[in-house]
Amino acid sequence: MNQDALKNWDVLVLGGGNAALCAAITARENGASVLVLECAPKHFRGGNSRHTRNMRLMHETVFDPFTGVYSEKEYWDDYIRATGGLANQDLAKMVIRESVGCVEWMKHKGMRFQGALAGTLHTARTNAWFLGGGKTLMNTLYAYAENLGVRILYDAEVIGLDIADGVFRSATVRLNGKETVSIKGATVVAATGGFQSNIPWLKEVWGETAENFLVRGTYYGLGTVLKALMAQGAETAADPTQGHMVPIDGRSPKFDGGIVTRVDCVPLGIMVNKEGERFYDEGEDFWPMRYAIWGRLVAQQTDQVSFSLIDSKVIDRFMPTVFPPIKGETIEDVARQLDLPVDKVKETVETYNRAVQPGNFDHTKLDDCKTADLTPPKTHWAQRIDTPPFYGYPLRPGLTFTYFGVKVNEKARVIMQGDKPAENLFAAGEIMAGNILPKGYIGGIGLVIGNIFGRIAGKEAAAIAKSGSQSAGRRL
Ligand SMILES: Cc1cc2nc3c(=O)[nH]c(=O)nc-3n(C[C@H](O)[C@H](O)[C@H](O)COP(=O)(O)OP(=O)(O)OC[C@H]3O[C@@H](n4cnc5c(N)ncnc54)[C@H](O)[C@@H]3O)c2cc1C
Repeated sequence: MNQDALKNWDVLVLGGGNAALCAAITARENGASVLVLECAPKHFRGGNSRHTRNMRLMHETVFDPFTGVYSEKEYWDDYIRATGGLANQDLAKMVIRESVGCVEWMKHKGMRFQGALAGTLHTARTNAWFLGGGKTLMNTLYAYAENLGVRILYDAEVIGLDIADGVFRSATVRLNGKETVSIKGATVVAATGGFQSNIPWLKEVWGETAENFLVRGTYYGLGTVLKALMAQGAETAADPTQGHMVPIDGRSPKFDGGIVTRVDCVPLGIMVNKEGERFYDEGEDFWPMRYAIWGRLVAQQTDQVSFSLIDSKVIDRFMPTVFPPIKGETIEDVARQLDLPVDKVKETVETYNRAVQPGNFDHTKLDDCKTADLTPPKTHWAQRIDTPPFYGYPLRPGLTFTYFGVKVNEKARVIMQGDKPAENLFAAGEIMAGNILPKGYIGGIGLVIGNIFGRIAGKEAAAIAKSGSQSAGRRL
């Protein structure tokens, strides 16, 4: 390794995803010397961010790429509806209000946008979709950062932090899985994501059921830096069991399956568990408002598995799946292939079909197709499952990211024990998402949290480092 990387940096950025790059670019634009420490090798850089597709952004006027207005009030109402509003509402309001500037910021860095996908998401008005997806997002931000003079170290895993009295001094970094070095920074931005890939830690929280979870994103979300911050006295936010968990195809890989493993047909049919019984209202709300709770619901069923059953009326109305559905000419045939109790599934479907009321099916709105006298009810998009061929998907909980993280203030400063903001220690992205997401999720806000807090952290960290007035790393 070039010894230059061991110098005393103005800003050390831990992690190499969206939040980290937003922080690194902003710190550099504000005149700081910046080193990014990414534990993944270059070809796996970008964490969960490289799997993403869009951002939910407030806009009171219509501009490219949106198809209509999405007011601050509507965004706020959606957020409260999805999360219960039990988080730090001041921080959530700030993220929503500031989100309007994200498109311009990203376009300036070279990002381009495209129209939204069709299907069950309905986000053309509310979300900006990346041309080229999250991989392009990360390649664009890395290229911009490097041109600006941000230094990047890959295969650089932060395994420890030296913090005394709320003042960060240095990071202990394992390089290429071998040598360990200490790297100093006048300030530090922790942007290493959640702990969703750390199965032993998940088991501490969920018990043995966590063994059956699939992790949709990066293998590198181990929460090592989060744990180090907690050990050094950082206050925490959110409940460790909370996270973004969606139903994904049970045939997906353990890690990094990404977006294509998601199965979006839940609101268009019924979900049954291993016993062949329905267990929740599939039509409670639009899919982006509800998909994140369905992973938890599946996690609560026997063996953490459930099955989405649909018929041919809706097979073309959701994002095509990477694994083909199980297909049969009768619902019994599908149940048999899925190893479900055939008679019970037949009875569940017949009971559901009898409860479906007449209505005008329209999956672009909360329509009037619902069931009557059925527990649990299906409150929208309820159509009889009666048109062959029939289809079924085996689903498992797909953990996207955990919400539990460090507490921060509006300047992205980590709050230490005694409610004291750390002097030169900042956090952005998933590692502090719990300040804004107590539970539930609203599709496309994850990246917004990283963008807004990354930019705040980068600016604040650069200002402290450049002013030299702080007592931080310079004093070493
Ligand atoms: C399949 C999928 C689709 C998604 N789609 C969307 C979407 O369309 N819109 C949206 O808003 N959100 C989406 N999300 C959520 C979104 O990815 C996250 O909210 C966001 O990317 C988090 O960014 P981050 O920078 O905090 O974390 P990450 O992008 O995960 O970055 C964390 C980084 O830290 C590195 N790291 C971890 N530990 C260490 C360590 N000890 N030392 C050094 N580096 C370390 C990792 O390698 C990684 O580079 C999606 C997630 C997944 C998995």
